[in-house]
Amino acid sequence: MNIHVLKFGGTSMNDHQTWKQVLDIISKYEYPVVVVSATARTTRQLIEAGQLAADGNLEKALVIGESIKLRHLGILHTFLKKNPHPKRPLIEESCEQKLDQKIGLLFKLLTYTHKAGELTPPMKDAIASIGEQISSYLLAQCGLAVDQLTQFIDAKKIIKTDAEYGHANPNRALINQKAGSLETILDSGFTPIIGGFYGEAPDGTTATLGFEGSDYSASLIGGALHAQAIEIWTDVSGIYTSDPRFIDDAKPIQELSYFDATEMAYFGAKVLHPSTLKPAQERNIPVFVKNMFKPDNSGTRIIRESDHSREVLAMSFKEDMVLLTVSAYETVMGYSFLTKVFSALEKLRLPVDAVNTTEASVTIALSNSEKLDTLSKELIEVGTVTFEQQKGLISLIGCTISEMDQLTNKVLDSMGSEEVNMITFTKEKRILSFVVNQNKLVETAQRIHTGLF
Ligand code: ADP
Ligand code: ASP
Ligand code: MG
Repeated sequence: MNIHVLKFGGTSMNDHQTWKQVLDIISKYEYPVVVVSATARTTRQLIEAGQLAADGNLEKALVIGESIKLRHLGILHTFLKKNPHPKRPLIEESCEQKLDQKIGLLFKLLTYTHKAGELTPPMKDAIASIGEQISSYLLAQCGLAVDQLTQFIDAKKIIKTDAEYGHANPNRALINQKAGSLETILDSGFTPIIGGFYGEAPDGTTATLGFEGSDYSASLIGGALHAQAIEIWTDVSGIYTSDPRFIDDAKPIQELSYFDATEMAYFGAKVLHPSTLKPAQERNIPVFVKNMFKPDNSGTRIIRESDHSREVLAMSFKEDMVLLTVSAYETVMGYSFLTKVFSALEKLRLPVDAVNTTEASVTIALSNSEKLDTLSKELIEVGTVTFEQQKGLISLIGCTISEMDQLTNKVLDSMGSEEVNMITFTKEKRILSFVVNQNKLVETAQRIHTGLF
């Protein structure tokens, strides 16, 4: 079976026109399996509503819920008006029922959160996933209105995870087994439409795979089905040399290796969830990143090995970084010093982006500034702790050690060296990173990009 897993993100699910474009794209494939995000802005609004409810503002939270319902009703009614179909009353009724049910559930969860006075991780996931639960159902029904045999499948039936709410880990063996049901659906001529981002924890509750997790859902399903290809449809023509929203002269990259694309995602190229390429790589399934609005553009192809002759492949950047420096007390031995520092980071689940170390001190770039007080307390026995906030991380991806000197000079030439807080290079990963001040991040990134590409 020539299966293609197609994932459409929030921008592709923005309004009735893009829903129609999504359905048009799907109709060109023999055996498509479709994964969709929530409509644009919905996930963010749901989480905001959850937080408002926890902070005592239930009324405002419910207003957000109501606005989400009205927005979806608006998209649905316009879609059905523009695409008249004899079954319209039936389709409309089933969608409205589903919306009432899901918004009713949202109100219940918000009320519970309000009473509890906190937004617990399982509750946050249950609330955040409602956007995908709604978008996948409504899109599948709209498919029927344009005579496409689309079928809604609840992602909880396929994506099985552990109970790490907020960034749940998939249970690959179980997903591989459950995905078999999708083949039966394809066999009977139907196209499954599945919400991305969420799945089911062992106790039956909802767990999410983390922000941008729909990409990961698509590749987990693609891997499980030994798909021909996994296609990530978005609002830009592939993976660019840098974020085209900020860097004017960024250019699309035709081909990347799984390795380099993963590094790019990890170091801030928001276009892909960092775990997306793992399931694809394991089964050597090509991943394409393509533009919804320019479907004929070739986009980016991600495969096992890719030749590249440029000295550096791409540049990504991240903001809101924190530089943590710990200087060991004299009584703490060198080897136990680093172990203690990293144990504290592990305990608080703080991911590390770059590190510079000497025997008696370590400077670490962290992308999470939420738990700094707790981290400080954890580290107080080890050494003196300082934090520098409002930093940005610029990473050059795909550079070799022989190019490092030259690249570093080019980068330093394109900004004042006083702007650089830290430089790291990893040969294995071929990444050269610079920590700079956040207020100049985009400007600095733009200058470096122009100098290099
Ligand atoms: P979707 O809703 O389809 O998941 P995202 O907003 O998550 O879309 O990802 C697409 C966006 O990623 C683009 O609009 C672009 O601004 C951003 N982006 C960041 N870095 C890159 C990059 N290197 N190449 C392409 N897009 C990038
Ligand atoms: N809707 C989720 C988010 O905004 C997942 C996704 O779009 O990939 O992060
Ligand atoms: Mg995305």
